[in-house]
Amino acid sequence: MASEDTPLMLQWRDVKSRHPDALVFFRVGDFYELFNEDAVEGSKLLDLTLTSRNNGASRAPLAGIPAHALEGYLRRLVALGRRVAICDQVEDPALAKGLVKREVTEMVTPGAVFADALLDARRNNYLAALAGDAAGEGSVGFALADLSTGELSVRRVPWEELPDALGAAEPAELLLPRSWELFPVPGAAGCTLTYRADWLFDPRAATEELARLFRVANLAGWGFEAGDDSLAAACGALAAYLAEVQPAGAVALRPPRVERAGLAMALDEMTRRNLELVEPLRGGGGVEGTLLGVLDEALTPMGCRLLRRRLLAPLLDVEAINARLDAVAELADDDGARRDARAALAEVRDLERLAVKVGAGRATPREMLALSASLARVPLLRAALADARAPLLAEHLEGLDPLDEVREAIDATVDPAAPGEPGVIRPGRSAELDELRAVHDGAVDFIARLQSRERERTGIASLKVGFNRVFGYYLEVGRSHAGRVPADYHRKQTLANAERYYTPELKEWEEKVLGAEEKVAALEQRLFAELRLDVAREVPRIQAVAEQVAGVDVLAALAEAAVRRDYVRPEVDAGFALELRGARHPVVETMMPREAFIPNDVSLDHAARVMILTGPNMAGKSTVLRQVGLAVLMAQVGSFVAARAARIGLVDRIFTRVGASDNLVRGQSTFMVEMNETASILHAATARSLVLLDEIGRGTSTWDGLSVATATTEHLHDALLAKTIFATHYHELTRLAERLPGVVNFSVAVREVGEDIVFLRRLVPGGADRSYGVEVARLAGLPPEVVARARQVLLELEAAARPHAAVAAPPPVVQLGLFDAGLHPLVERLRAVDPNSLTPLQALALLAELVEAARK
Ligand code: ADP
Ligand code: MG
Repeated sequence: MASEDTPLMLQWRDVKSRHPDALVFFRVGDFYELFNEDAVEGSKLLDLTLTSRNNGASRAPLAGIPAHALEGYLRRLVALGRRVAICDQVEDPALAKGLVKREVTEMVTPGAVFADALLDARRNNYLAALAGDAAGEGSVGFALADLSTGELSVRRVPWEELPDALGAAEPAELLLPRSWELFPVPGAAGCTLTYRADWLFDPRAATEELARLFRVANLAGWGFEAGDDSLAAACGALAAYLAEVQPAGAVALRPPRVERAGLAMALDEMTRRNLELVEPLRGGGGVEGTLLGVLDEALTPMGCRLLRRRLLAPLLDVEAINARLDAVAELADDDGARRDARAALAEVRDLERLAVKVGAGRATPREMLALSASLARVPLLRAALADARAPLLAEHLEGLDPLDEVREAIDATVDPAAPGEPGVIRPGRSAELDELRAVHDGAVDFIARLQSRERERTGIASLKVGFNRVFGYYLEVGRSHAGRVPADYHRKQTLANAERYYTPELKEWEEKVLGAEEKVAALEQRLFAELRLDVAREVPRIQAVAEQVAGVDVLAALAEAAVRRDYVRPEVDAGFALELRGARHPVVETMMPREAFIPNDVSLDHAARVMILTGPNMAGKSTVLRQVGLAVLMAQVGSFVAARAARIGLVDRIFTRVGASDNLVRGQSTFMVEMNETASILHAATARSLVLLDEIGRGTSTWDGLSVATATTEHLHDALLAKTIFATHYHELTRLAERLPGVVNFSVAVREVGEDIVFLRRLVPGGADRSYGVEVARLAGLPPEVVARARQVLLELEAAARPHAAVAAPPPVVQLGLFDAGLHPLVERLRAVDPNSLTPLQALALLAELVEAARK
């Protein structure tokens, strides 16, 4: 019962009551302890041993972690989406009267983390906030901040696009008004939800909070307009939250960037995942097997993060795309410039995160040195770009401020030889410090020389001078010589076989050493803090440089990828036509030996806008489909593409759908989901869209599926006029081309070799005449008798369907005659054979017998 709580437990309860939704890490000595419900939950999440602690008359559940292991545990909890309140001892326990004072010194939440150990350098860690639109326009204000880089942006998002917006940013934590607890926010399933009081999302309160935080009079200077209430509200709520949980972090935020719709292509979840842009279909977290994995030649952490963001936000403006392509082309052509730029970039550390640490007063001496070393590369990067002609490169060059004063200030202060403390300040930086150090070193020296003098004076050859933390300096004499020490020796400590003494002289010098040490440490700390404050004033400039560096890094990375992987510059225009020559799948080709991937040509235009792509299973249909989507996406991102030549008419959206049974993304996928997704394409696609449908309609019975597929294709062809590729194993769909002028048939060629098929992986005009399912089954190792029976059933089915299928009648296949009705005695004879049970000799005898019978 609470009334029987010990004082410690009362203190804990007080803290916990103020952080009810966080695990409280309560510092007790060298441990962080978790109590009660936190102990129960923490022990489960972190595999800690659950014990109990005597709490007055009752016992309280208890679990603890060693303080030095804090970061590892925080990482796990944050990954699990939990919040932690770190409650430290804020006074020296040795000096405390009664219970040590404790306070929450830091809140660590999934969206509000600073420490490198808790972050992935290659991607942003976002905290998002949503605020409702008072105007009721069916949209929300969507603010996004990365505390570790200082980025803050906000935009308006229509409700129906919210899942895509959340999916692309993957925020670790999402702030919502408390009153939204009652309904699910679409697309928010993956993130930690943090509900905050509604008034914090009030546009007025939020605007005031922003103005206060950034010390501005109003928000107009950042591009907020009348009617942007929900944008200001989301931004302000987010800033207020940060100011509360991570005050230092909020201070390091950059002013919000207001993003207007229409700049970037929205990519829905299915498209993002099926094209495997930044995450492999099978999950797992890495970028292996994704487009990002193939293009990721960026050398700086901020470049890596920017590349990832760009892949998820292709451009919609021909001019902007070509500006990027010009820059990539120039760097791809100019090996020298590219090499020099990349050599400079390779040594640049995470300027964005370093800037934030400086701004938040958290940068260590080592980090200050990393900042200076990174800035030292900027002139080299400038030199590499000095002759750049592409306007975008020239713009970056212009923005690459080497910040010489900042670098010089750091270099003049921090000693690279001893960036740990003490000794962090360079000799020569402060006369006062140098003097104190001289005093200190002189005193240490004097004490060291004392040893030989005292040996001489006492005649004890084994006498030595020593030091330890508790007793300070001493003169040590073996026990056997203890009788010979002079009168001015005072006993300090007795060991098993030695005595330790001090003399008034030693004591005096010891005080000099310790006094100087203390002063040196204090002065060093002050000088370092001063430096950090000076540099903190330049944080906005450092952040601006970081942005330029990231921009150059991404362009150089795309150029490097283009050269290494033999990509071509696409011609991007506002036309409709899409034309790829010798196109490859940029990811699949890296998984096979060089040249093993077979390139293909694909073109779509008004007259041939819907391609029905047929061919047996495993022929390469899905690969062709995806490589077209990837080529368009890469082009609009400003990258070269995996082809010999490419002309790409700008698209407004890329839609990719994979039929339920082929859909690896979702275990729970059903025909219903597949149809939902198809419906959403049919509603959202325009004539400018690229629609890629892979085996849609497969999740149900053949005739149902065929009907849905036919109707969908007709709609895309007649009403939407979108560029479409429909990969299907329903070869029946090929007959649409007879009725619909904009439909063309292509198939991925296979060659029949006897009863086998060989995959040629080549796209050829014309539809597949049949599905080759039986041949593929055979290749897959189905027992021969099952394969033979399958052929027989197929023929019967086809014969039955023939009256309706006069046009698509399969050509007579000679080999199949052999197995026709299964009546031929030779066939009967063969069917009875089990090849596995024959010896080679028996097989030969059987073969001879069969040949003889056949000749008769
Ligand atoms: P489908 O969709 O027709 O069943 P996929 O597109 O999934 O076939 O391709 C099956 C496999 O064939 C791929 O995993 C890849 O290994 C290989 N493949 C596909 N296209 C090519 C190509 N153009 N060149 C070489 N191998 C290819
Ligand atoms: Mg497929």
